[in-house]
Order: sequence, then C-alpha cells, then structure tokens
Amino acid sequence: MAKMYYNKDADLKVLKGKQVAVIGYGIQGRAQSLNLRDSGVKVVLGLNLKDETWKRAKADRMKIMPIPEAVKSSDIVMMLIPDEVQKKVYDADVAPYLREGMVLDFAHGFNIHFKRIVPPNTVDVIMVAPKGPGALVRETYLAGIGVPALIAVHQDHSGKAKKYALAIAKGLKATTRGVIETTFKEETETDLFGEQVDLCGGASQLVKASFDVLVDEGYQPEIAYFEVLHELKLIIDLVQKGGIEGMWDGVSNTAEYGGRTRGPVIIDSGVKAAMVRTLRDIQSGKFAKEWVDEYEAGMPTLTKLRKDAEKSNIEVVGKKIRKMFD
Ligand code: NAD
Ligand code: MG
Repeated sequence: MAKMYYNKDADLKVLKGKQVAVIGYGIQGRAQSLNLRDSGVKVVLGLNLKDETWKRAKADRMKIMPIPEAVKSSDIVMMLIPDEVQKKVYDADVAPYLREGMVLDFAHGFNIHFKRIVPPNTVDVIMVAPKGPGALVRETYLAGIGVPALIAVHQDHSGKAKKYALAIAKGLKATTRGVIETTFKEETETDLFGEQVDLCGGASQLVKASFDVLVDEGYQPEIAYFEVLHELKLIIDLVQKGGIEGMWDGVSNTAEYGGRTRGPVIIDSGVKAAMVRTLRDIQSGKFAKEWVDEYEAGMPTLTKLRKDAEKSNIEVVGKKIRKMFD
C-alpha cells in the first residue's frame, strides 16, 4: 500500500528564505505559483515568450523575469512548461545556471524518467504532481481544501529532497487532502498507460466504435450520439463517486445485468493482451521515442489524425447535438 502524507508531515519552513522560480504560467504554472505565493512562499516567474500567459501574469502582478535570470536568482526551479518543450528550454536556459544545492521540481516524470533531461548530481530532483487540472488546483486552494498530489524524489543531493517536495505540496494545499509517494518511473508509466489505454485513447475509441456500429446498423446518428457519448458522463460521475459497484447501484437492474455479463465479452482477453503490449512500449521507451520524433518532425501524424477526425460522422453529428445544450 502507498504511503500517505498530510499537513502534519510537511513543514513550509524548509522554504523559508528560499526563492522559487516557476517556469511557465500556463495551466499548472499559474495555479501553482499563485497558491505558493498565497502560502507565503517567495515566487518569481521565468517566462521567455510574450504570449497570453505573460499578459495574464502581468495582470496578476506576478514578478516576471527571463528564464535564465529567474533560475540564477532562485533556489528552487519548477518546470511547468509543456513536456515536449522542456528539454530545449532546460538545455538552453536552465542547466547553465543551476548551482549546487538547488532543487529542480517537475509536475510529470516524462523528461527525467526517459532521460531527456539529465540534471547534474549536485541538485535535488523532485516531483510534485497535483492530481487535477490547473483550474481545480487554484479553485480548491481558494476554498481551503486543495487537490491530492503525488510526490517523488529522483535525486537527493541535499538529503532534504522529500522535505522540499512535501513543503511544496503543502504550499499548494495538497497535504490537506493527502499526498501519495511514488517514483518518477511509476508516475510516468502509469500516467501514459492511463491516457493511452483507458482515459483518452480507450474511452474515445470505445465511444467511436459503439457509435459506428449503431449507425452502420441503420440507427439514427443523433440517437446513437446521445446513447454512446453523451450519457457516458452520467455513468462516469457515478463511477467517480462510488466506484464501479456504486455505479451499478445507480443504474437499473437491466443495465446492471446486461453490463456485468456483456462488458467482459467486449473487453476480452484479446483487449487485455493489447493493453499489455501498449504498456511494454511505454516501459521500453519505444512510445517516448516515437512521440519525441513526431514532435520534432513538426507533428505530421497528429496533424493528419486531427484533420481526419474533424470530418468524421460523430463530430458532425456532435456539433449539432451539443448546440441543443448551449
Ligand atoms: P501549459 O501548456 O499550460 O504551459 C504553458 C506555459 O509554457 C506558458 O507560460 C508558455 O509561455 C510556456 N511555454 C510554452 N512553450 C514554451 C517555450 N518553447 N519556451 C518557453 N516557454 C514556453 O503546460 P501545463 O499543461 O501546465 O503542463 C506543465 C507541466 O505540468 C507538464 O509537465 C505537465 O505534464 C504537468 N501537468 C499538467 C497538468 C494539467 O492540468 N495540464 C496536470 C498535471 C501535470
Ligand atoms: Mg495523468
């Protein structure tokens, strides 16, 4: 079982007299920097692009510096820019300015685990990954409750790496809800597995295949859309609230009998074997290499997949149906 940490296990005092440079002011960067600032931590932003997020930071009266200046003047650096740009930014604007004893923090393990970023062994390398989107990280902070988070230590030069991770988690108010310790490997591999196999990849494909079957069998696409896509949220809300058994309690006996007996026929051993193969590609680094190559080539595959999807029946019908809820 995983070890859990709460407020009593974390001490914000380890951040006293230290300055935190938050690199990026996007979804996580804004939420985390505002939370830390409001928890009394000295925060500066490292921003290179004068984009929308820069304007937002200005409006929020945050202290903004070019990334090298932010790193030079700080003790803790939080890498909160997109995973695919982190290596380039780290190599050019972070690595040259790291000093012995500094702390490098990530919100996802991808670049460290797959060795795209290899920090010097004279710094601590930690992860604090809130288990929720940025907007929720901020909203729940303001409500005094926070969202749970994962922490991990990859490198402990100071001997205090875990204390820093816990303190940052406390500054975000995550320790109010509970923090679970993991490793960069576990967080990275399970995160990729979840998004590929069930959350984003599996769920969307299940919906699309169900939609296609109904439409191919002559049912009206609007009806199919409601049944297989729109209602998914209602079921997922039940699952999130009460687990899978709680969901069965919230649907009819007909739905429960049909679902319990037919579900395993759809997600059968063949599908499970494909899940294991997908996991192997994650574990071996094959997927990471493929994604990095794709990104560096200008994302040709992703661009094509997006274009093709736009024209698909489910999207065309979906536009019409979603208007009914505007
Ligand atoms: P994001 O896309 O919102 O980051 C945008 C910020 O990065 C902006 O300030 C932008 O100016 C800056 N940026 C983009 N490209 C840049 C470049 N080339 N050079 C310099 N700055 C650049 O990112 P995010 O979704 O907040 O993700 C940040 C980290 O948090 C990632 O490691 C991600 O995996 C992790 N994470 C995100 C979420 C989430 O809610 N989105 C949840 C958990 C973990
Ligand atoms: Mg995830």
